[in-house]
Amino acid sequence: MNPKRRIVILGATGSIGTNALRVIRAHSDRLELVGIASRSRVENLAAIAHEFKVRDIAVFDPGTETPGSLASRFPAGSRIHTGMDGLIELATLSNADMVLIAVVGTTALMPCIHAIRCGKSIALASKEILVMAGEFILPLIRKHENLLLPTDSEHNAIFQCIRGEPARNVQKILLTASGGPYLHTPLESLASITPEEAIRHPKWNMGPKISLDSATMANKGLEVIEARWLFDLRPDQIEVVIHPQSIVHSMVQWVDGSILAQMSPPNMSFAIQNCLLYPDRVTGIDRPLDFSAGINLEFLPPDPHRFPCLNLAIEALKAGGTSPAVYNAANEVAVSAFFDYKIAFDRIPAVIAHTLASADRVAPQSIEDIIQSDTDARRISQQFIHT
Ligand code: MG
Repeated sequence: MNPKRRIVILGATGSIGTNALRVIRAHSDRLELVGIASRSRVENLAAIAHEFKVRDIAVFDPGTETPGSLASRFPAGSRIHTGMDGLIELATLSNADMVLIAVVGTTALMPCIHAIRCGKSIALASKEILVMAGEFILPLIRKHENLLLPTDSEHNAIFQCIRGEPARNVQKILLTASGGPYLHTPLESLASITPEEAIRHPKWNMGPKISLDSATMANKGLEVIEARWLFDLRPDQIEVVIHPQSIVHSMVQWVDGSILAQMSPPNMSFAIQNCLLYPDRVTGIDRPLDFSAGINLEFLPPDPHRFPCLNLAIEALKAGGTSPAVYNAANEVAVSAFFDYKIAFDRIPAVIAHTLASADRVAPQSIEDIIQSDTDARRISQQFIHT
């Protein structure tokens, strides 16, 4: 038996993927990278394949690359997969123990389902997957008895706090949010924010979509919905608290009123290492908090007028059925339209609100129903943006 945990990363060239590679590099006595996938960035993927001697590679969108030109960039003997089938191939590799899913948006939904069915442990960073299909994924996880490790910093914090406690002890969870770059910007200035400005996050270094979602707090909305599934909570058991320092990553309040928090610097390596090496704890790769220098922590409630995307997410969660999938799809379309200079920053919530109001609300019977409402919601959002 291989004593090392064998890891596949879907989204190896992104911000989570890059941090996961740092963790694997530092703990090569315990972890082995056996597969990597990314959307395009072939150059970066090839560098990773050479460094970690990875044989199984998937390029979701190879663009103009031919199989021959792709093969020439990777080590001889590499198995190179493409498209959705390629991602699924990687998610189900027979020599992998754990799949880290860190792909932007919902692309990794089907690969995630296949990985679960193959009994892989799942480290889940792509929050859109549970937002869209939590109702079907969680029963699947229970059936196949997979280890499901939340990799997003907030959910990882809750996971660390809640471990071993019976559900009846939990009063609620407090999801912290940095508030993003526009916490104190005058509301009338929000219309003129450019894409270049909006992706500069004050605390976290992340990809453009999640950075923008943090600025609108749609990201926190997605996290509220994801938390509902991960920890089997009612919507009224999830509270959002703004915490600009991003040091308390989230908290659990027990029924007796006591609150437990998880703290570490605003750096993803802590949560990623917790997942990849779970349940072991060994020396971390980044410096922990230093209280000798003094640390100020601040907490405040989110302003619903400043962050309408957050309340729209909570409404979608309460409405249930396909509403969270509709919310997620509308947000993805609105984010793309903003990056393409088609809508102003402060119109993103309007796209989501219109789509939620216009889309059919159904109780989905299958993943296919969810995918259908995702497609319908995208069409409604597009039409709204064009008119
Ligand atoms: Mg987060």
